[in-house]
Amino acid sequence: MAESQWGLCKDCKWWQIEPNATVGNLTMGLCIDEKLQPYQLRVSGISGCNRYLPGEPARAKGSSEAPPQAEPTR
Ligand code: SF4
Repeated sequence: MAESQWGLCKDCKWWQIEPNATVGNLTMGLCIDEKLQPYQLRVSGISGCNRYLPGEPARAKGSSEAPPQAEPTR
């Protein structure tokens, strides 16, 4: 079952970071997984969970703010 695959945010397509941010361990971003969106979960590159889906991060201005100011782009 795909949902049981655990992975890091920096390798996940549901991670949304600032437009010019480096993809790295300490980069902060918003998790835009559909089920987690209501929580405005702000996570670092080395955070992770089992909603992980491999892919490139999305990008939007305000994704790293506390609380995040960007809308999910996916
Ligand atoms: S919290 Fe989970 S679903 Fe969200 S970006 Fe990180 S690994 Fe992906």
